[in-house]
Amino acid sequence: MEEGLRRPPRRNTGYQGTAILSTWDHGLAANQKAWGVLQAKGSVLDAVVEGVAVVESDLTNRSVGQGGNPDRDGHVTLDACVQDHEGHAGGVAFIEHFEHPIHIARAVMERTPHVLLVGEGAERWARENGFKERRIQVPEVQAAWKEWAKKAEYKPIVNRENHDTIGQIAVDGNGRMAGSCTTSGMAYKIHGRVGDSPIIGAGLFVDGEVGAACATGTGELVIRIAGSHTVVELMRQGVEPGEACRQAIERILHRNPELSGHQVGFLALRADGAHGAYSLYNGFTYAVSTGEGHSLQEALFARKWEE
Ligand code: ASP
Repeated sequence: MEEGLRRPPRRNTGYQGTAILSTWDHGLAANQKAWGVLQAKGSVLDAVVEGVAVVESDLTNRSVGQGGNPDRDGHVTLDACVQDHEGHAGGVAFIEHFEHPIHIARAVMERTPHVLLVGEGAERWARENGFKERRIQVPEVQAAWKEWAKKAEYKPIVNRENHDTIGQIAVDGNGRMAGSCTTSGMAYKIHGRVGDSPIIGAGLFVDGEVGAACATGTGELVIRIAGSHTVVELMRQGVEPGEACRQAIERILHRNPELSGHQVGFLALRADGAHGAYSLYNGFTYAVSTGEGHSLQEALFARKWEE
């Protein structure tokens, strides 16, 4: 292996033990689940898949799973991906009728030669591979969409309508890493739109020798800078995790002077357990779990958003 692809030089004290990071308040429930999976001797991949699956099942969550806000045609479309320590990856995008896109994403990784399946083909593959369809609608969500459709104005509200993807990144007691990401995407998007969340390198990136990162917020901004990959590559160069997230946000700001209405947040976890976060606007919370317990924190941010 080339020297440049190896771990970055360490300026800290070394491996700090198991750590799990997840985006937003719902990350706490996901982290608790993932922690339990590790304690029950599950793999770190099992942990990040089952962790975010908890949030996918929560029909009160408006940006993950089938309780999510629909697109402008009233369809709730779901995107997810997963990546393991060695960089194997799987994802699905633009699927509708399944409770757990993250389970299908894992199956794409483990049972196909591909990384990403989308739309009808992904749904057909899922059905053929034993995933049960679940056709449900959440009445409040449909009612809110119908109300929105009267004017059909696309003006997302920061930290409310354009966030809530769950990304989860983890390192276990053996120093192995994995990450997952799952979302219903931006509320009232154009039918067919896919954001950063199922795109390896954008919504999630894991390099077990260096670290992992995940993103939330306006997916278009994240895709344009290959956000999570950027954060991991900065860590490879020796940049501290929180500073790597800040530099990725700076890159977005540099290219897009007008960003009102858009939130973006990054989480970074280095292979030794050091971690950090940074967001465009205030209000980006994330869950951290280590041997010291589970806590919810708020990321440092570049700009203050006044509601
Ligand atoms: N990143 C997601 C997307 O663009 C949105 C979110 O974080 O909720 O689809």
